[in-house]
Amino acid sequence: MRLPTDEELLAELAEYVAIPSDSRSAPIETMREAAGWLAARLAFANGRVEETDGFPVVRGEWLGAPGAPTVLVYGHYDVQPTGELAEWTTPPFETVVEGDGVDAVVRGRGVTDDKGPVLLVLALARAMLEQDGALPLNLTFLFEGEEEIGSPHLPAYVRAHADELAADLVISADGAMWRPTEPSLSVASKGLVAMDVVVTAADRDLHSGRYGGTVANPVHALATLVASLHGRDGAVAVDGFYDGVDELTPERRAEIDAVDFDEEAYRASVGVPELAGESGYSTLQRLWERPTLEVNGITAGGRYSVIPHRAVAHVTCRLVGTQDPDAVAAAVTEHVRSLRLPGVEVAVHTDEGRVPAYRIDREHPAIRSAAAALEEVYPGQEVLLAVIAGTLPAATLFEDVLGAKTLFFSFATADEQHHAPNEFFRIRRFGEGMRAWRALWTGLAAWEPRGVAAVGVAP
Ligand SMILES: [Zn+2]
Repeated sequence: MRLPTDEELLAELAEYVAIPSDSRSAPIETMREAAGWLAARLAFANGRVEETDGFPVVRGEWLGAPGAPTVLVYGHYDVQPTGELAEWTTPPFETVVEGDGVDAVVRGRGVTDDKGPVLLVLALARAMLEQDGALPLNLTFLFEGEEEIGSPHLPAYVRAHADELAADLVISADGAMWRPTEPSLSVASKGLVAMDVVVTAADRDLHSGRYGGTVANPVHALATLVASLHGRDGAVAVDGFYDGVDELTPERRAEIDAVDFDEEAYRASVGVPELAGESGYSTLQRLWERPTLEVNGITAGGRYSVIPHRAVAHVTCRLVGTQDPDAVAAAVTEHVRSLRLPGVEVAVHTDEGRVPAYRIDREHPAIRSAAAALEEVYPGQEVLLAVIAGTLPAATLFEDVLGAKTLFFSFATADEQHHAPNEFFRIRRFGEGMRAWRALWTGLAAWEPRGVAAVGVAP
């Protein structure tokens, strides 16, 4: 079949990028304009803009393949702020093409996160409908306008529309391949729980001369506490922290060791004198498979000769396996209480948002079909099954509410300056992405999910 050309997609992308849908600062009218523009591209699927308690979502569905699986395509139309304009080499809301051949890129805010990767899916679906007259499976679409600000209104919207959004699988056009050098799929991402550890003593800051030596100093107590969170081996020294974490099998270790990963290049890329972390694991093993506890910030006192009355550490834990965010928060709380630091009071306040780790089985039909699709588009290259060391709350939401797993199938690449000035997208990914999505849909069409959620099928 004839796929849309790069020129056609670049022309569409130019219009789309010109709408500055920065969810942090754009007025609602701009966000509506972007949503409306996208909905118009979904005319083949009754595309429309629907209100939420925040910025609207774009919805659509094409349900012309009875008996075939239903796939929900997810993405977002909002973008990150531009940051310092002076750091951009081209205007952020104008697309500019640079380079040629396989190195050609298009620059502009949102080109890779997530406007380009979404557009190629819609262009493909339109082309398949025009030329084949049908799609191999049922598609529903959900594009939100608040992804870059933490999707505050998405959970309520998805819960309220769970019946209409029912799907056997979610495929996210958001996300990114790990590196430009090989095709990859992500099969896991880490969970997250965050908390403040608050140490207090006197009811006000005290003069360090007049009171020094008579009361406990919360900064000293907090330092003792923070130092107690890890052992000398770099492991987290909180009882119960590792509950739900499976020890790495020799097979998994060997598999990770076989990944082409240059530790020295990685060290140099972050500018540290030496890499560090839990002993007994390689850098990539730690990055992909081990949970972490990090102190992100400490607030206390200042350059005054006082004994501060309060010291706070902000702590986040990235979770793996079946670690329970609530149990981890409880374990940290118990740990700091058990220290019984003299002369101070210690409290732990856990943040509302708690996300468990996410995993999709590598034998899941979605992963198998996606790997086959990538092998078709990138012949002779092995598909790497990678881990996203970040956290993906949408995948957890879809699993909880819709009972559907999420496959991340974006043709963005992680090095394309997401969220930063000079964001870019490799133009070759338009064609590669369309061919891969087409192969994926075709491969999934034969799948017979258990507990069919296909629209119109009676239980
Ligand atoms: Zn994104």
